[in-house]
Amino acid sequence: MSSKRINYSKLSREDRIQSLVQLGYLNADQAQSLINNQGLSAQLADQMIENAVGSYGLPLGFVPQLIVNHQDYLIPMATEEASVIAAASFGSQIINRNGGCQAEVTQSLLTGQIAFYGFDPQDEDRLTEFVNQDQDRLLALANQVKPSLLARGGGARHIYTTFKGEASQGTRFFILYLDLDSQEAMGANTMNTILEVLKDELVARFQDQINPEIQALMAILSNYSPQSLVTASCQIKGRQLKGGGLKGGQVAQRIALASQLAQVDRYRATTHNKGIMNGIDALVLATGNDWRAVEAGIHAYASQDGHYRGLAQWSYDGEADLLTGQITLPLTLGTVGGSIANHPQAQINLDLLGRPTSQELMMVVAGLALAQNLAALRALVAEGIQAGHMSLQYRNLALQVGAQDQEVAELAQALKDSQIPVSQDLARQILADMRAKQEDKS
Ligand code: NDP
Repeated sequence: MSSKRINYSKLSREDRIQSLVQLGYLNADQAQSLINNQGLSAQLADQMIENAVGSYGLPLGFVPQLIVNHQDYLIPMATEEASVIAAASFGSQIINRNGGCQAEVTQSLLTGQIAFYGFDPQDEDRLTEFVNQDQDRLLALANQVKPSLLARGGGARHIYTTFKGEASQGTRFFILYLDLDSQEAMGANTMNTILEVLKDELVARFQDQINPEIQALMAILSNYSPQSLVTASCQIKGRQLKGGGLKGGQVAQRIALASQLAQVDRYRATTHNKGIMNGIDALVLATGNDWRAVEAGIHAYASQDGHYRGLAQWSYDGEADLLTGQITLPLTLGTVGGSIANHPQAQINLDLLGRPTSQELMMVVAGLALAQNLAALRALVAEGIQAGHMSLQYRNLALQVGAQDQEVAELAQALKDSQIPVSQDLARQILADMRAKQEDKS
């Protein structure tokens, strides 16, 4: 049986895990580790960061199937927000029914920078010329720093420079950029190591040959990564989107309008993108990647033309009844390096994903982002976001007032059916009534 035919939400947690074993996603040890909820041990946490006192848990779940480039992916997601996986699964189902999404990595290069200051205006041409003429040697020097990366087919690819800032308004900087192919690693540490070697070499030569006052301010990767882009797209038959009393075509038309709104209104664009990040962060986190880097890079990219805009865009062709979605994201992800290899949960999650390459992971992230956005927009422009959200939030409310095990589902259902406004007091009262009835029975 394939993962897509199982209604996982109706299974117990143990049965869900066992079915992943039967489908070949997990081995027996991994299943046991999940059943025992053995995430990150305190001992390992203590090795990973300073002043550790333990590890912080998040719910881990999965989307059973998303088709990306005709291949099925089961997608692990770590998130505390009740509706995220339900929405991603719903959006994925619609995309899958229409043949899945297509995704492509156009480039996968990490960019780093070294900033210099203290030069005079008349030095500027010489600085540029110096680097231009020395490019091949500098690239070779960069690659000597990390021969193992070169041996894997990666390494420093381009060097280019610019001047930023005005001396009249403070300081003028000479900035050297380096693009690096970090292969399967995100590459932040590798990049920083290379840049520091180049920085020391360059500042010494600038001081010696151009101006002794020149200083290097810093050398570090940039989390703005427009040289590492992935695009995912999909086409959906409008008639499959009906809901909230609207025909499918009307919903599709309204999704296209919602997409336009996110291009012109910053308030909407921010929430549009937050919904997209619900999916991206959950998958990036589950695979042990640096989600702060991903967040920073994506938001910078969303405002690349000076206006902050929605990342995913949708258009509707009424005649063909086709809704087309597309998203382009800058992503610097790894399947090795950082804490990925050390985190046992990240390793299990990479197995669940089928051990993707870093570029494949970029494509899955972009596909998931589209699915997440489709589900959010469809709910928003059809029945409204609260209909789906609240039934899941009621479970949180039940937990907040102290419901245990089976009480949670029963109380959540009672809150959903309530004819009077829901509040914590109401939840407490219903829970007390439920317990009193239970005591009467026993
Ligand atoms: P690492 O420093 O761990 O370097 C990558 C490691 O992966 C190397 O040890 C390399 O081995 C190994 N490796 C094994 N197989 C491959 C392969 N196929 N391709 C590439 N490398 C391979 O990690 P990164 O350089 O990726 O840095 C990521 C970390 O840096 C993250 O933890 C991130 O949070 C952090 N960071 C982020 C910053 C930011 O975003 N601003 C700033 C500073 C750090 P070998 O050495 O043999 O080549």
